[in-house]
Amino acid sequence: MFEELKSRPADSLLALIKAFQADERSGKIDLGVGVYRDGMGRTPVMRAVKAAEQFLLETQDSKKYLGPEGDLQYVRLLQPIIFGKAPSFAPRLVGIQTPGGSGALRLGAELIQAANPSAKVLLGKPSWPNHAPIFGAARLAVKEYAFVDLVSQQVKFDSVIEALSAASAGDVVLLHGCCHNPTGIDFTEEQWLEITKLVVAHKLVPFIDLAYQGLGDGLEQDAAPTRMILEAVDEALIAYSCDKNFGLYRERVGALYVMTRTSDEIGKAESNMAALARVNWSMPPDHGAAIVRTVLENTELSAMWRAELAEMCERVNGNRAALAAAAPDLAFISRQRGLFSNLSMSKDIAVALRARHGIYMADSGRMNLAGMQPADAGAIVAALRAEGC
Ligand code: PMP
Repeated sequence: MFEELKSRPADSLLALIKAFQADERSGKIDLGVGVYRDGMGRTPVMRAVKAAEQFLLETQDSKKYLGPEGDLQYVRLLQPIIFGKAPSFAPRLVGIQTPGGSGALRLGAELIQAANPSAKVLLGKPSWPNHAPIFGAARLAVKEYAFVDLVSQQVKFDSVIEALSAASAGDVVLLHGCCHNPTGIDFTEEQWLEITKLVVAHKLVPFIDLAYQGLGDGLEQDAAPTRMILEAVDEALIAYSCDKNFGLYRERVGALYVMTRTSDEIGKAESNMAALARVNWSMPPDHGAAIVRTVLENTELSAMWRAELAEMCERVNGNRAALAAAAPDLAFISRQRGLFSNLSMSKDIAVALRARHGIYMADSGRMNLAGMQPADAGAIVAALRAEGC
């Protein structure tokens, strides 16, 4: 039967990693991969994570099954970090552990499919390339609209308003909670207020993807839009990832939270989430969530994690400032947040930047600001200029 399969294209970012490794030039700069990098170009295991792993190694006395909900203490301990200390909607909130933010998105998509299969998912483009395929895999219709103009680096807010206004009651709006991937362009507070009004007026359901909390302006600031919209709406889904803010990428640490209209509906949502988890992965991998739980249960480790995350955030924003200082027309980069900015360029230019200058970024023009040092700013700007960008 397998001869019937059609080959699929390989992940272009993985090819980029290989090409960078094979490049022997000393001044090469890797802005391609999608993970945090420190000043030495490494993606280290965070100090609090190492300490928590050590603690688990010494104290964990069983690896018996936990169940489809995963580690519920982990899910509970994350709650105040994401939603604040005592939000009014807390009695209507339920969460389960998932394999990464990707697992949370897929589980949320399947929950929507189970509850309202005719719901459309509104997705602003460009977005993380896996968003549309995940919703499609759950057999939901995805309706794309233009979110950003890369030439002006501005949100196309008219297009956002138009898309939300044309949606039907029960349709789902996918929103990046902070640190938009791939553009780094987040809505302003006024725009979030406007979106909240439209979501309420048209009875839409926000599905917030919060994969980079703490890597934009800080944990509290990055959660503010999510909290604001949740205060205003009846129902919502939140896909959370600890893979970036705890540096746990390959451990696959995420959670799906669902906010129901009344607290009576929580049981239904919870049992459906558990049943859907059961047929997808049975139960999520434990180790990463156990690390996060251990960190959050311990005041000292928590403080250590917060401090290191703040350092990471500062480093990325320092690189943004260095690029903006090196070229006035790149000033927008210092106003954007998270790991990524997306320059407006053709694939030919991205290829030339690699071939002629050893500067690696995605063909789409997406660059990872954590991949550079502040001292690289001049070389990056000179290469962009040489290629007419
Ligand atoms: N959402 C966005 C916007 C992302 O960028 C990513 C990861 N690149 C994810 C979700 C998925 O994260 P995870 O690795 O935890 O599955």
